[in-house]
Amino acid sequence: MEERFPKCLKCGVGVMVPLSDYGRDGAPIRYKAWVCTNPDCGYHIRIDNGEVSYGTRIRETEKKRQGI
Ligand SMILES: [Zn+2]
Repeated sequence: MEERFPKCLKCGVGVMVPLSDYGRDGAPIRYKAWVCTNPDCGYHIRIDNGEVSYGTRIRETEKKRQGI
């Protein structure tokens, strides 16, 4: 496998991989978010409408349908 992705600076184990999304009109949004591949880490950087956010928790984009 190629390892062209930057290493996660938080855990140092996983790598940051870019995730792309699609807009409402189907236009691709490249590299909308970067997420660490280490599931125990979960560090991510993402941008929404020009606002950058980062952290170790994936924000839930889907509404909770099931109570815990
Ligand atoms: Zn990490």
